[in-house]
Amino acid sequence: MSAIGDCAHLRQDRKGMCRTPLSGVEWTPSLIDVSTIITMPNALYVHIPFCIKKCRYCDFSSSTIKGEPPQDYIETLLKEASARSVSVQKIDTLYIGGGTPTIYPAKTIAKLLNGLKNIFSFRESAEITVEANPATVDIKKIINLSESGVNRISLGVQSFDNRELDFLGRVHTEKDAIKAAETIKKGGIKNLSIDLLYGIPGQSEASWTKNLKKAINIRPQHISTYELTAAKETPLYRILKKHENEHEEEIAQMYYKAIDILNDSGYSHYEISNFSIDNCQCHHNINYWRRGRYIGLGTSAHSFIGNKRVSNTRDTGEYIELVSFNKNACKEESPLTKDDEIKETIMLGLRMKEGLDTEQIRENYGIDMLSISKDFLSCRLLTANNNKLSFTKKGFALSNYVISSLFNRI
Ligand code: SF4
Repeated sequence: MSAIGDCAHLRQDRKGMCRTPLSGVEWTPSLIDVSTIITMPNALYVHIPFCIKKCRYCDFSSSTIKGEPPQDYIETLLKEASARSVSVQKIDTLYIGGGTPTIYPAKTIAKLLNGLKNIFSFRESAEITVEANPATVDIKKIINLSESGVNRISLGVQSFDNRELDFLGRVHTEKDAIKAAETIKKGGIKNLSIDLLYGIPGQSEASWTKNLKKAINIRPQHISTYELTAAKETPLYRILKKHENEHEEEIAQMYYKAIDILNDSGYSHYEISNFSIDNCQCHHNINYWRRGRYIGLGTSAHSFIGNKRVSNTRDTGEYIELVSFNKNACKEESPLTKDDEIKETIMLGLRMKEGLDTEQIRENYGIDMLSISKDFLSCRLLTANNNKLSFTKKGFALSNYVISSLFNRI
């Protein structure tokens, strides 16, 4: 079963980070290489590394905090933004994720947003998303966010079943989630996304169906469904690992259920884990899947600049210290080889329902995708139409296997 969908929040790409230690290097324009100018980022990701409580499956960079998180983190983000603004074109999308960005009061998020708008030039139509935890939403906050330019909220619901929420260690209840979604709509945000998790131990197909139907009743513009995965260091890891193989078929059935129910309710399945109505796909994430360049600001944020993937330190204290001394907070840098580039293009391209442009792959890399995919085409895991190669429903569920087989053939 594919776990490409990572986890509850739409994550930045985590792969391929590594090797060259960079933190401590002073920011200078000489850090920008020529390739940066050719492919300049037009998307921003901002990471807020604070949460009210740690969920049992989560290893995202976030620490729990009582009360209001530090203001100096916001100032540091703006300082890092200024230092890195040289190599950016007009911003099409901004995604403030975490952690829990809405742990901050709306005025602080507005300050961050206004600061970013003073540093970067945003397109008028820019998609500006803020991730929210249902326990941190109130009408005043939503109105303020909407007035300061936020036009999309991604609400981390995960489940509408209180037992499942409790098992996951979420800080909110079903009632909180429904109320938060209504509040977001009332507060003037017209583009709402809801995240749901399946494969939660003890979750039945019936309970998953109920979760999907409750989400559909809210009628958000966008729904993301992710298989629950737990990182090694988390309390849920051992439990999930123990039952990994037993539940494979059940989990595949839950995935098919999501596709069928959401499609029947008018949601278009545009990416392996994502569905939308009214053409409200998440443009920020589409940029990731199309290998568009982006800058990530904040603790653990990843960037894709020129032909390099780089990531900031995961330590918030170190991040604040480095940036306040005008140092580079990037900890690792990974220049991509031709092979990396080909694999990324295939893997990310196949995530999208629109599929992979086989002509482009042939022109750019001399690879005949149709010929190396013959067996998957004949057993209908993949389908080809007008030079586009894409997964079928069954193929999406087996995407990890198919993609790794294709990698072995190139
Ligand atoms: S709210 Fe999100 S980031 Fe925070 S602990 Fe839970 S899953 Fe992790």
